[in-house]
Amino acid sequence: MMRGLMQDRPLTLPSLLARAERSFGHKRVITGGATETVATWAEVAPRVRRLAHVLDALGVPAGACVGTFAWNSQRHVELYLAVPSSGRVLHTINHRLHADQIRFIVDDAADDVVFVDRTILPVVWPLVASSERVRHVVVMDDGGDVPLPDDPRLLDYEQLLAEQEDRPIAVAVDDEDAAASLCYTSGTTGNPKGVLYSHRSVVLHSLLLLGADVFALSEGDVVAPVVPMFHVNAWGLPYAAMQCGADLVLPGPATAPEELASLLARHRVTFSAAVSTVWRDLLPHLDPAGVGSLRHIACGGGAVDDALSQAYEAAIGIPLTNAWGMTETSPVVTTSRLSTSHTGLSADARRRLLGTPGAAVPLTEIRVVSDDGVEQPRDGTTPGELQVAGPTIASAYFGADAGAASFTPDGWLRTGDVATIDDLGYLRIVDRTKDLVKSGGEWISSVELENAIMADPRVREAAVIGVADPRWGERPVACVVPVPGVDLTVDDVREHLRDRVASWWIPERVELLGEIPRTATGKWAKQELRRQFAREDAPTTSPQPS
Ligand code: AMP
Repeated sequence: MMRGLMQDRPLTLPSLLARAERSFGHKRVITGGATETVATWAEVAPRVRRLAHVLDALGVPAGACVGTFAWNSQRHVELYLAVPSSGRVLHTINHRLHADQIRFIVDDAADDVVFVDRTILPVVWPLVASSERVRHVVVMDDGGDVPLPDDPRLLDYEQLLAEQEDRPIAVAVDDEDAAASLCYTSGTTGNPKGVLYSHRSVVLHSLLLLGADVFALSEGDVVAPVVPMFHVNAWGLPYAAMQCGADLVLPGPATAPEELASLLARHRVTFSAAVSTVWRDLLPHLDPAGVGSLRHIACGGGAVDDALSQAYEAAIGIPLTNAWGMTETSPVVTTSRLSTSHTGLSADARRRLLGTPGAAVPLTEIRVVSDDGVEQPRDGTTPGELQVAGPTIASAYFGADAGAASFTPDGWLRTGDVATIDDLGYLRIVDRTKDLVKSGGEWISSVELENAIMADPRVREAAVIGVADPRWGERPVACVVPVPGVDLTVDDVREHLRDRVASWWIPERVELLGEIPRTATGKWAKQELRRQFAREDAPTTSPQPS
């Protein structure tokens, strides 16, 4: 075949830093918090280079993982750039996970050095201090007066940066397939699994987000990713902002609804993304006049509640939009949109359509497949397992267990979601086959919760299901069968879980049953349990961790 004659330039992250500095040196990165900070890309870029030299000075080997436990902040952005641009792998970690999961993740990734916001240090220090692998913990002072442990491994971010000069980064990353960042996702069974993004996938994904039918991000935007930077690169939004030169507004540790509402208004934010729990909490605090600049609210990671979207439309004139994705998919695969085929729809129907996942972004393919592997018709009604493929989609998991079962023989990712696709390529999520509960945008493994409940000798068996919850999206309901003759109360079950799982995993609802219904093959009939318990109202008051 005749070869093209275009330049063979790798798609790597240093190009984003160069673009932000050269073309958008005057555009800003703003971080909220007790003392708000504002820096231009012209100011951030030299700090990124000095940070790369810090990693050299600390002796972090090429290809090693650098862990971060941090809010959405300028320093986190600096890590987003310096770590991959100097040939290391950025490993963002969710500090809200249970201690055992954090320990597993840090060990599995073999994090050499971890960077921690001072306000998060009390959670993280006991876990990383006991790790044999972590050589240094670099503290980023984000305010507050959390005492610092007296330990030689503890270093100060600003002090380390001050010791370095602004020189070019020594390493040239010229392999676009080199690993850039790592993010763990909850598996249906067993331990969390690592998804390892390449420079190429991150760069392509940042470009996808700019598409007019995706988020249409451009230089005039002020982009506020509320989705955490520890989760799938904050949907790639910080990188997309660098590509297009949008201002970046980051909440820092100020994540309370009233603080977020004020941040969005103060900085005339035009685009923001968060899970629905955040949008629900924010609504009462939104000053419609103050947030008149908002042109697009992305609500992803779960379904959009139409009543909430309607309330937004009534309050500030724009509905919520939806997007579908997973950690394994960078994450954005589909975004909701109106096409020329939808022009005749009523206003209500248009809003409802914008609340569905929408259609695939460029370069990405979706299909739904029956249990016996046959692709289903695109008729909008025939469900099947959603499978996805493209250059921003994982081909395997990181580590010894590559998760072969999650990929088809022709290389598509099996998502574990059940969906339909219509003739225009619009996706609808019908159900989930994976046994996970998504609460406030974060995962609860029903299998782990079941095991924790069944560790109680008074319990014969336990099945955990996710039921729709107006506040958190989903909450777990524990269906528990006590050992015959044993006196077991709902409070006993909750009390037993207290030290075993993160507090926000503990179900408000525990149903004590005589038996758990089973399928023909002897598995728990979770669909049946969901049907049985989904409609019964019960208050959910337990706080999501902050
Ligand atoms: P995560 O890997 O934590 O980002 O979670 C990915 C999963 O979240 C998907 O496989 C879905 O089960 C769920 N999810 C993400 N986006 C949506 C959406 N728009 N509608 C319904 N479920 C979603």
